[in-house]
Order: sequence, then C-alpha cells, then structure tokens
Amino acid sequence: MSQQQKQDDIHWLTGQFFDQRKELRYRQSIEPNVRSDSRLALLLVSVIFAMFGITDYNLLGLTHEYYLLLTMRIAVVSACFVLALVIGRGGGYAEKAWLHALPLWILAVGIILIVPLRPESLSTQITAVVVAIMAFYLLIPNLLTVATLASLFLSITFLAATALYAGVTPTGALRIALLLIMTNIVGYTALLRIERLQRRQYSLLNEERDQNRDLLKEIKHRKSLEAQLRMVAERDALTGLDSRSHFMKRAEALLQRAGLEETPFCLFMIDVDHFKRINDTWGHTRGDSILTKIAEVCQQSLRPTDIIGRFGGEEFVVGLPHTSPSDAKAVAERLKQNVEALSLTDELNDLQLSVTIGVAAANAEDDLDNLITRADNMLYEGKRDGRNRVVTAG
Ligand code: GH3
Ligand code: MG
Ligand code: MG
Repeated sequence: MSQQQKQDDIHWLTGQFFDQRKELRYRQSIEPNVRSDSRLALLLVSVIFAMFGITDYNLLGLTHEYYLLLTMRIAVVSACFVLALVIGRGGGYAEKAWLHALPLWILAVGIILIVPLRPESLSTQITAVVVAIMAFYLLIPNLLTVATLASLFLSITFLAATALYAGVTPTGALRIALLLIMTNIVGYTALLRIERLQRRQYSLLNEERDQNRDLLKEIKHRKSLEAQLRMVAERDALTGLDSRSHFMKRAEALLQRAGLEETPFCLFMIDVDHFKRINDTWGHTRGDSILTKIAEVCQQSLRPTDIIGRFGGEEFVVGLPHTSPSDAKAVAERLKQNVEALSLTDELNDLQLSVTIGVAAANAEDDLDNLITRADNMLYEGKRDGRNRVVTAG
C-alpha cells in the first residue's frame, strides 16, 4: 500500500479509519492504555475541580450560593469517581466510547453551573473553561468527535450563561466567543494530528505484522517444497526405496566407515528372474505392482541398519554394514526364499517369482564401484547357472 493510500484510509475531519472494522480493531488495541489513562485523568480533574471549593468559600463565605456550589462540586466529583471506577473495571473503549465521554459532559455542566452561582468571578471562570477545553481535547483520552462535541457544548453553554447571568456586554461576549473559538481550533487541530499519527502508526505496525506472517508462510512453503524435492531426489517413485544416487551416497559413507573401523561390509546385487516374461504376459501395470511387492519383501527381509536401493529396472542393490560374508549369504538366502514365498493373486498363481543374488564382501582396498562390479559378476554367474540362487564371491 502506498503512503498516499495509507493516509487516505483515515478521515481528514474525524481522524478515524473509514473502515469501521479497522477502527474497532484499533480501539480494541489501545483499550488497556485508554482505560488507565482515563481513570488517572478523571481522578486528577476531579481533585482540581474539588479544590476550587476553597475559592468559592473565599468569594462567597458560608452563603446559600456557597452550599449550592459545594453540593454541585461534591456531585460532580462523586460522579467522576464512580465513572473512574466503572471505566477502570470494564470501560470498553471500542464499543462503549460514550462511557468515556460521560465525564466530559458532567464536568462541562459543573463548570457552567458555577456561572450563575459565582457571576462576579468571571475572569477566573473563563480561564477555567479554556483550561477545561484543552483538557477535553488533550488530557482526557477520547475520540476527536466526542471531545469536540463536549467542548463545543461547554463553549456555547458557557457563553450563554455569561450573557444570561454575568451581565457581559455584547463586545465582552464577542471577545469570550473568539477566545473559545481559538481554543477549540487549537485543541481540535492538535488532537486531530495525534489521532491521525496514532492510526498511521497502527497501520504500519499491522502491515509489518502481515508481511512477517507472509514471510513465515513463504518460508514454510519453501521448506515443504525443499522436502518434496529431496524426497523426489532420494526416493524411487515406484518402489519407495532409495534412488540409485541416494543409495550410492549412503553406501559410500558406510563403506568408508567400515574401512576406518575395520568392520565387515557386504553388498548384494539382486535381479528379478525372467521379469520380461512377466511384463509380456500380464502387462506393464501388473509388472509394476509385482516389482513393488518384491521391493517390499526385500526390505522386510533386512535389518533396519541395512540399506536398499533400486539400481535400475528390476534390479536392486543392498548394503549390509557390520555383516560377515557368511552372515550376508544367510540373509540373501532368506531374502530369496521370501520372494519365492510371495503370494500373488489367483490370476497369477502359476507364476513362480524368483530372484538371483550376487554377494560381494568389501576388502580393505575396495571402493564402491569395485564392490558393485564384483557383486554384479556373481549375479551374472548365478543367471548363467540357472537363476533363483545366491552366489558369493571367492
Ligand atoms: P533375467 O532373468 O535374465 O533377468 O530376465 P529378465 O527378463 O528379467 O531380464 P531383462 O533384462 O531381459 O528384462 C528386464 C525387464 O524388466 C525388461 C523391462 O521391461 C522390465 N522392467 C524394467 N523396469 C521395469 C519397471 O519399472 N516396470 C516394469 N513393469 N517392468 C520393468
Ligand atoms: Mg535385469
Ligand atoms: Mg531380470
């Protein structure tokens, strides 16, 4: 979103977001702060309002007006205290902004009521009204619209009260009106700037949060793609065994380790017998599922530490760490028997599956290619000698 657009989603006159839901979310986000600020401001303003009772006494003495003023001040202060309590407990700023506005109206009425009761102290009251208007805009946290309405109410009603009860001349009234208009303009403009700045900050923060969330999503997506790619590279798509390249990598590492630790390492080359015939008779799709079954049986015949991969076509390769040639031969025989015992569906009952296995044991100077070649040679020997057998080198 461009800077211009960001500014445009805030109303130029009210300083609120055009989007009501966004405005609500914004207010919810500042609610805890507004609540405690409101409470503190209310308590302070009430104390100041109560303290003016001393001025009342100095001006009026213990007169009827003094008692009326005192009663009014006690009522205002008590109402503000109760409201401070209510706002502190559950003054939802997002949905119940009116609750935060109530003190403004109570204070405004309280200030106006002083005029008929103490008409001779007009200059002090004008100062008090100016200060109160600034407090409405800047000190008591509220929405710009609410603060403006309360301040205008205070200004207009105060002006009317001075005209009615303090006997100000039309020129005097004009001067007070101008002063109050100026005060309202300054207060309004200052709060408007604050409201806009805070909302812009909120938007930027949200945008940053969204970008972070998108970034995290992207990272997750890439990680899953990476995992998929690795899977494709490392697994054979048909049988789920290691791919040839992945098997080679793992076997290299195991062979190297066996050399360092001087432990035995053996390798099988397995080839399914007469597989072409299977394909020719039952088709490639059936051939595929038989190949998958054979792969499964081969894997199940091995220990978890052994590795098996699809070398290509109907050939598999097995690496057996920590396995002596005699143990390897026994494993190969068991594997061969398991393939023979593989049960197939009725239609394929007359098919006897078998594999031929070439076994080679690693020497100290062997590399993986050597070892594979020797196992391969044994495999061809087995094929030549009639298939369905295990042939061990040496
Ligand atoms: P031998 O006993 O000498 O190994 O005979 P063979 O028929 O198994 O050997 P040959 O190498 O002549 O044929 C291998 C056949 O395996 C040929 C090919 O169509 C088949 N084959 C290789 N890969 C796949 C595969 O992924 N799916 C299927 N269905 N068949 C495959
Ligand atoms: Mg083959
Ligand atoms: Mg074959």
